[in-house]
Amino acid sequence: MRIAIVGLGLIGGSLALKLTEKGYPVWGMSRTPATCQQALQRGAVQGCGTELAQLARFDPQVVLICTPLDQVLTTLAALVPYLSAETVVSDVGSVKQPIVAPATELWPLFVGGHPMAGKSLQGIQAAEAGLFRGRPYVLTPIAKTQPQALAAMKKLVAAVDAEAVCTDPARHDQAVAWISHLPVMVSAGLIAAVSQEADPAILHLARTLASSGFRDTSRVGGGIPQLGLEMARHNRQALLTTLCSYRAQLGQIERLIEGERWDELLLVLQRTQQEWQQFPVNQPRRVPQDLGNEEG
Ligand code: NAP
Repeated sequence: MRIAIVGLGLIGGSLALKLTEKGYPVWGMSRTPATCQQALQRGAVQGCGTELAQLARFDPQVVLICTPLDQVLTTLAALVPYLSAETVVSDVGSVKQPIVAPATELWPLFVGGHPMAGKSLQGIQAAEAGLFRGRPYVLTPIAKTQPQALAAMKKLVAAVDAEAVCTDPARHDQAVAWISHLPVMVSAGLIAAVSQEADPAILHLARTLASSGFRDTSRVGGGIPQLGLEMARHNRQALLTTLCSYRAQLGQIERLIEGERWDELLLVLQRTQQEWQQFPVNQPRRVPQDLGNEEG
């Protein structure tokens, strides 16, 4: 399987490193010559260019678009003249509904994808071959998705040692709003609230005393601003739904504390302790293969 990767940042670079390590021929394309240079130096790709036209000579069987989300559709439209009829195309964007249907119209062998792995750094320098190991890699087929395209992507997901999870774009977007996009906003709100402490001495003391609890709850709010903005802009409605529900839960907890209703607060915390354990990430077991309706 010859694989081309367009956009050699954290995600594209990590995919390139792993696929090259597995012995696949990988060709890369990025905007800037410096990124191409680094990708070549790190051994992530066998060849690299800054022009999509160069990709035609490599004749890839799979193309992965790993640009920022708002570049995916324009990149695909620009790619189409250089693809052969059997080429499978996928993306890695963290929101799927605005991408999958229009991309499938542009290219029938398109499959939406989203590897559930990342870190707080960007760019090819931060890329690592092991980033996807054991992580869910969501594929979002729709009714028009071609079965051979989905099969090729499942093979690629296995090649990067990730676990394919198939669901439709709407379910994907709602689920990631809960577990990825809402946490970023909640965590950003937490950092902003603490930072508004009016007494500079207390603020200084709080910063000095902050330990693992604060680090865990504030980590994603202190991440890359552009990624948070991308989530909010492109998954706005699902994120608003989760924020509304979160505000209601916080309001309920606030009322219990205000009213000194300690027994009820204890029940809430006992329930959340149990619910926390229901997340596979909090226990050592495999992710399910299929969540929701797989189509195509
Ligand atoms: P990144 O490290 O900033 O990398 C983006 C790369 O895209 C850069 O190398 C940049 O190239 C390249 N690029 C930008 N515009 C381009 C264009 N028009 N044509 C070709 N290349 C272009 O970002 P990332 O974190 O890898 O994110 C990329 C995608 O992965 C996003 O769609 C995001 O939703 C998704 N994603 C991110 C994470 C995460 O945690 N970071 C997790 C899962 C999915 P130059 O270096 O040449 O400027």
